[in-house]
Amino acid sequence: MRSRFTEREAREPFAASTIGRKMNGPDHFPLADRVALPDAFAALRLEPVFTRLPEAFYTRLEPQPLPAPYLVDASDAAASSIGLSPEVFAHPEFAEAFAGNLVLPGSAPFAAVYSGHQFGAWAGQLGDGRAHGLGSVRTADGPIELQLKGSGRTPYSRMGDGRAVLRSSIREFLCSEAMAGLGIPTTRALCVVGSDQPVLREGVETAAVVTRMAPSFVRFGSFEHWAARDRQTELRRLADHVIDTFMPELRDRTTPYEALLREVSVRTARLIAQWQAVGFMHGVMNTDNMSILGLTLDYGPFGFMEAFDAGHICNHSDQSGRYAYARQPDVAYWNLYALGQALLPLIADPAAVRAAIDETFPATFERAYLDALRAKLGWQTAHPDDETLIGDLFALLQAQRPDYTLFFRGLCDLPAKAGADSEARADAPVRDLFIDRAACDAWLARWRARLQTEPQDDAERRARMRRVNPRYVLRNWMAESAIRRAREHDFSEVAALRRCLQRPYDDQPEFAHYAQLPPDWANGLEVSCSS
Ligand code: AMP
Ligand code: MG
Repeated sequence: MRSRFTEREAREPFAASTIGRKMNGPDHFPLADRVALPDAFAALRLEPVFTRLPEAFYTRLEPQPLPAPYLVDASDAAASSIGLSPEVFAHPEFAEAFAGNLVLPGSAPFAAVYSGHQFGAWAGQLGDGRAHGLGSVRTADGPIELQLKGSGRTPYSRMGDGRAVLRSSIREFLCSEAMAGLGIPTTRALCVVGSDQPVLREGVETAAVVTRMAPSFVRFGSFEHWAARDRQTELRRLADHVIDTFMPELRDRTTPYEALLREVSVRTARLIAQWQAVGFMHGVMNTDNMSILGLTLDYGPFGFMEAFDAGHICNHSDQSGRYAYARQPDVAYWNLYALGQALLPLIADPAAVRAAIDETFPATFERAYLDALRAKLGWQTAHPDDETLIGDLFALLQAQRPDYTLFFRGLCDLPAKAGADSEARADAPVRDLFIDRAACDAWLARWRARLQTEPQDDAERRARMRRVNPRYVLRNWMAESAIRRAREHDFSEVAALRRCLQRPYDDQPEFAHYAQLPPDWANGLEVSCSS
């Protein structure tokens, strides 16, 4: 197999001339047919799905090769969802293919164009500035598109170098698989491939490519792009593409585009309810990072809530706290209005656009969030006082700042009936997270009284709670620890974290150290947009 990496590219990794070679049409993919891939790759036949759209939606171009790529880690679960057996990971062609050095059979790489609102301001044209769509794998659940991120410059790179660093690629890889393990809709990640090619950020780091998978990477901003240009033909083509490929049940509605907006609104509301419930913060909820399919998309400076603070800002670059934890539902709502504005030419009636969002988002979010919290607290039935008890709990969490994940997981294991003198000891795992233990005791007494109204027996209640309150989430210190080792070419902790986070609800004694309060050294960790 011939590497497409050249000496010149090694010397001039940031030069404008290194924009991937433009392709002359779908049949111009030099390596696809010339390299005999091992049989293990047989399932990987890529077909056009997004690129059935006209060329205005993307630019066809090859990824820019990376020198001496090595596999950092790969997800067996993600691989099996596209019919790929994990044995394929061991082939050197795997790292080559997912570094962008080898074009896979049937693949016609492209970078998509989109626009968007960033931090509330219109940012104009954006696009896949460092990502290449490879085409889609056909599965029983529909098409799954494969996309390389960090695979070189494109016409949408603006001032960027087209690369992603090892640090951010490992974070995206692990969090994608962690969210899937939590049961939260997300793009998946097949693998991370590294290279020692230097990449300049605040300091010098090294390059990596993360391979993402999703039915579609179309974003709210993909629609805003055409609306801002007053290009109704393309706007309609894109909406038809999403409906016909991913939501065919909407096609027969009297107003399919309005139905599309309602569907996206409902999916987004449910997604954000799950984020809030698990304590996930996206960090950069710009409209170009909002999936039209309601998936968690574009992992950058994300975080999971540790010491509870509703105002927590996980993105160090977000000075105003626009994307703080408690603001995520409102931001999603604002973003839906940006999408609604973009779809207005298709829906024609501003009142219908407003109704499509206002009649779905607030109610769906409230419902899904309340249901999720009831489940987290072990309640299967609904009581009129539940919201008061939940509101008082969050006021207590805000005042006392216990670790969010440890609090809810600890609650699973508390007995429903307070046993006289053993109570303090039995409750210790939860109580000890609070400075004001009496305040904790008082709330626990109310929670227990509420549990007495539940029909289920206590063992069943605990088992249910353990299925919705994770023991493990991807804390910044865990990612950081794995990244530090990976920089030394020791990828064992990335693999260990991946395995742990694929089963976040199961007690895994070998990973007990990941289910504890963050170590002291993690106090100063900051994550920003730089990736
Ligand atoms: P993000 O904040 O990662 O969602 O990126 C916003 C926009 O900037 C997207 O259009 C990205 O493709 C682009 N971008 C981010 N980093 C780079 C980079 N290093 N090179 C080229 N484009 C980039
Ligand atoms: Mg983005």
